[in-house]
Amino acid sequence: MMPAMGKLEIEPVLCLKDNYAWLAVDREEGVVAVVDPSESEPVKRALEARGLKLTHILNTHHHMDHVGGNLALKETFGAKIVGPGKDAARIPGIDVGVVEGDTYDMGGHRARVLEIPAHTRGHIAFWFPDDSVVFTGDTLFAMGCGRLFEGDPPTMWSSLSKLTRLPDSTRVYCGHEYTEANGRFALTVEPANPDLQARMADVKATRAKGLPTLPSNIGIEKKTNPFLRAASPEIRQTLGLGTAPDVEVFAETRRRKDAF
Ligand SMILES: [Zn+2]
Repeated sequence: MMPAMGKLEIEPVLCLKDNYAWLAVDREEGVVAVVDPSESEPVKRALEARGLKLTHILNTHHHMDHVGGNLALKETFGAKIVGPGKDAARIPGIDVGVVEGDTYDMGGHRARVLEIPAHTRGHIAFWFPDDSVVFTGDTLFAMGCGRLFEGDPPTMWSSLSKLTRLPDSTRVYCGHEYTEANGRFALTVEPANPDLQARMADVKATRAKGLPTLPSNIGIEKKTNPFLRAASPEIRQTLGLGTAPDVEVFAETRRRKDAF
């Protein structure tokens, strides 16, 4: 298949309280996808307002606030559902199960599949290298990471490390607007990080206007996200873990966030 000529336009659809479903649209190629639709109605309204019909649903993991809209949207539009092959039994209406290393061609926009378990066993990311976009679900958040419901710290550390190996310019679209709360925690473990201080000032201003803080990108996350910064001397000093392995620093950071 030829690479798509059009651009993937990405817009948030606010669902539930603080979930984002993401519309990814290339009108030229007739691609209208939604990533992680928690519920169907807000997505339908967003599509109607734009005169669009859904062609694809991409799911990063099985939690209801990411797949709750699957069946109603599939029934209305006949959209194809693509999700984690290793968790197919927990993805309502799944048509295509994908695994690590797979490439899924969505109207010429190629998604590479990365398995990034620990928040759930089957969690995946969809990375569109030609579009410089990655959908990270509840694994990598802006300045945060997901809770470890179905995996241990080494598993999450390895999942996050896989994401940090993507190009710095890759835009990060995650599942929730948790950025400001994440940043408040980040400042407790790395208060002197100037990039973090500057980002938090931006984030506060953005949220004061009621706007989304996303997308982020991999480069900004590497500079400001404490869960990717186990090597930071300041974080190690805060946690009292001078020369511990990175994975232990990550694990302690996650424990502190759970209690924050
Ligand atoms: Zn989740």
